[in-house]
Amino acid sequence: MGPLLLNSPGESPGVGALRRGTGRGGTLRILIAEDDATLADGLAYSLRDAGYSVDRVTTGIEADAALSTGEFDLLILDLGLPKMGGLEVLKRLRLRGSATPVLILTAADSVSDRVRGLDMGADDYLAKPFALAELAARVRALTRRGHPAAAGATLRHGDLSYDQVGKVAAIKGETLELSARELALLEIFLQRPGRMVSKERIVDLLCQWGDELSTNAVEVYIHRLRRKLEAGGVKITTVRGLGYCMEKVRAA
Ligand code: CA
Repeated sequence: MGPLLLNSPGESPGVGALRRGTGRGGTLRILIAEDDATLADGLAYSLRDAGYSVDRVTTGIEADAALSTGEFDLLILDLGLPKMGGLEVLKRLRLRGSATPVLILTAADSVSDRVRGLDMGADDYLAKPFALAELAARVRALTRRGHPAAAGATLRHGDLSYDQVGKVAAIKGETLELSARELALLEIFLQRPGRMVSKERIVDLLCQWGDELSTNAVEVYIHRLRRKLEAGGVKITTVRGLGYCMEKVRAA
């Protein structure tokens, strides 16, 4: 395992990069599941300094127990944990229906673990070693995503806006006629702008709402949603063999 770069040269030791805006009320709670004590110490110190509340566990079993009983705003999850691997912890978390954002930490060379982690519902990853500033940016982005109300309940993408509370999507202020499934699908993409979402992951996310769904059905929903979004300059591209990605159409 490589060293953690706590501060890049020239960066002040005050970890200013991690400091988040205040005044939203309520401290965000982060669980760090990492068995490398030096790395976990560094992460915990920095995150606490930035105003987050931090809990730490060192095995997969402890992580699973903490996640089963407590509410966290973010999980920072090492995939190489003793007793129960990080992927298993992640799988169990999602099987319980939890939408807690998960940032996985992987060894630099473990591309397959990274892909599996994202497929199993991780929201982002960092390969070790990483710079603290980069971790800070990911943590901010993920905790924002997990707290849409704090960041504003309306998600925007090009001319498209989506009110997460009222469940209303509009293009340039004109309400779109979308089915509940299409709205759920739209929300999945808007929460992951510019990022690839696999078909299997979409099935998992949509099935949180109840019934079963095939990947073929997902293709049909994507097709319909894609047509309805065209006017808004929002495009859902197919990443062949992998999944889908929502992008803004570049103005000519
Ligand atoms: Ca480890």
